[in-house]
Amino acid sequence: MEIPAATSTSPVKHKKATKFDSFSENPTSNATPMLLYLINAVFFTAVYFLLVSWRDKIRHSKPLHVVSSSEIAALLAFAVSLVYLLGFFAHPLPLQEQEKEEKEEEEKQITLIKKKVQSDPIILLSEEEDEEIVKGVVEGRVPSYSLESKLGDCKRAAAIRREALERITGKSLDGLPLENFDYESILGQCCEMPVGYVQIPVGIAGPLLLDGEEYSVPMATTEGCLVASTNRGCKAIYASGGATSVLLKDGMTRAPVVRFSTAKRAAQLKLYLEDPLSFETIAGAFNKSSRFARLQSIKCAIAGKNLYMRFTCSTGDAMGMNMVSKGVQNVLDFLLTDFPDMDVIGISGNFCSDKKPAAVNWIEGRGKSVVCEAIIREEIVKKVLKTDVASLVELNMLKNLTGSAMAGALGGFNAHAANIVSAVYIATGQDPAQNIESSHCITMMEAVNDGKDLHISVTMPSIEVGTVGGGTQLASQAACLNLLGVKGASKVEPGANSRRLAAIIAGAVLAGELSLMSAIAAGQLVKSHMKFNRSNKV
Ligand code: ADP
Repeated sequence: MEIPAATSTSPVKHKKATKFDSFSENPTSNATPMLLYLINAVFFTAVYFLLVSWRDKIRHSKPLHVVSSSEIAALLAFAVSLVYLLGFFAHPLPLQEQEKEEKEEEEKQITLIKKKVQSDPIILLSEEEDEEIVKGVVEGRVPSYSLESKLGDCKRAAAIRREALERITGKSLDGLPLENFDYESILGQCCEMPVGYVQIPVGIAGPLLLDGEEYSVPMATTEGCLVASTNRGCKAIYASGGATSVLLKDGMTRAPVVRFSTAKRAAQLKLYLEDPLSFETIAGAFNKSSRFARLQSIKCAIAGKNLYMRFTCSTGDAMGMNMVSKGVQNVLDFLLTDFPDMDVIGISGNFCSDKKPAAVNWIEGRGKSVVCEAIIREEIVKKVLKTDVASLVELNMLKNLTGSAMAGALGGFNAHAANIVSAVYIATGQDPAQNIESSHCITMMEAVNDGKDLHISVTMPSIEVGTVGGGTQLASQAACLNLLGVKGASKVEPGANSRRLAAIIAGAVLAGELSLMSAIAAGQLVKSHMKFNRSNKV
C-alpha cells in the first residue's frame, strides 16, 4: 500500500520555525536585520561614550551625577536600544514552546501514518484495484480459487478472499489471524483457498525415556489435562528406567478395485499377483514411482467378479500415500497388457484402508507397526501414579479388554491412545484424519516380579507417519519434528526418522495410558478434569 502523499496542509510537511522566521511574527517590531544591526551599533556606541565620559570625570575629580546634554542623549540612546534588544532576545522562549507543540503534533501524525502502514492489509483492501477484485469475488465474476494464480501473491490473495468472505456471509472473521503466516508454503501442498489459520497451543510432555534416549514430546491440543497427564506417565516411566520399543513392520498400503466380466477372470489375476514368481516383474513396474518406494507384498480379496489388490511398500521417511498411489498406477498400467479386460474402477477401493476403522489395518498393519513396553516399579506406581499394581491390572482387564469387547471395538482396546496420537500428529504436521487407524492400540497390563511391579505394553499396528512431505515442511510443524530430532529425511538411512517418530508416538501413548488408567483406578479422573478443564472464568 502506498502511504498517502503528505499534502501542503499536513503538519508533517511544515517547515520548522526558525529564529529568523520570528522577524515577521515578533510582536516587538517589524524589524529587518539591518535595523537590528543599527540598534546594536547605537547600544554599543552609547555604552562606549558613557564609559569614556565617566572615566574623564573620575580622572579630573568631577562629580558623576552632573551630566551634560550629550551624556543625557547617550543615556536615552542606551535605554531605548537596551529595551529593544531585551525584547528581541527574550522572544525565543515563546518560540521554543511553539516549536515543542509543533514537534508533538508532528509526532502524532507520524504515529498515525505508522499505524496505517502496520495495518497494511486493511489499507490494501481499500486500494482501488483490490477493492475491484473483492467485488469481483463477491459477485462471482472472479473465482475465489484463482486468486493466488491471478495475483501471484498468496498473502494478498488470502486477504482479498477473507474480505470477500466476510462481505458474502456478513460474518466477521476477527479472531482468526491472517498475519504472520507463510501462505506461499502451503500453496499446492497443504491447504487451498486460505483465509487465515487456527492457533493451537503446543505443550511438552517429557522427558520420555525411550530406548535409552530422552525425548520432549510436543502435543498440540486444547484439551486440558492431556499434556499434564502424559507428562506424569513419562515421569513414572523415567523413574522406572525407561521404555523400550520394537518396530514389527513398516509399509504403506493402497488397494485399487478392478472389475472383470466373470469371477473366474478376477481369480486368475489374483493368482497371478500372489504368485511369488510374478513378484519381481510387478515390483519392477511399481518401484519406478520413486527411489524410496519398494514393493513388499500384494494381498488380494475378491467380492464376486471384483478384485481388491492391497499393495504394501516401504516409503522412506514419507508417510507414503502419494508414493504408493503412483506405484499402484504403474502396476495397473502394466497389468492392462495381459489383462486388457480389466476395468479399473478406482485407484482406492477401501481395502487399503485409509482413514476408516478397518480390521485389515488392525490385523495386517499399515504404516508402522510398533510395540512399546515398560516395567513400572511398585513404589513408582504408588508414589507417582497414586494407585497400586493390582488395581491397574484389574481395571485394564475390565475396561480396555472386556469393556471394549462388549462394545464391539475395532482396534480400540485402550483408554485414550487417540488423544496422544492426534495431539502429536497435529504438532508434527501429520495427517490428523489418519488418527483413526493410527490410534488402533491394545494396552496390556500384567503384574510381574512376584506381583510387585507392573508390566505395561501398547501394541499399535498402524501408525501412519512421515517426516518429509505434506504438513511436515511447514515452519511450526518442522520445529516440533526438530525438537524430537527427526526433522526431514534421515541422513543415516531412508525411513529411520519416520520410524523413530512412530516409536516416540507409541512411547507417548504408553505414558498416556499409564497415567489415565491410574487416575481412573485412583478415582481421580473427575477431580483432575475439574481442576484443569474448567477455568473459574465465568
Ligand atoms: P507422501 O507420499 O507421504 O504423500 P510426498 O509424496 O508428499 O509424501 O513426499 C515424498 C517426497 O519426498 C517424494 O518426492 C520423495 O522423493 C521425497 N523424499 C526425499 N527424501 C525422502 C526420504 N528420505 N524418504 C521419502 N521420501 C523422500
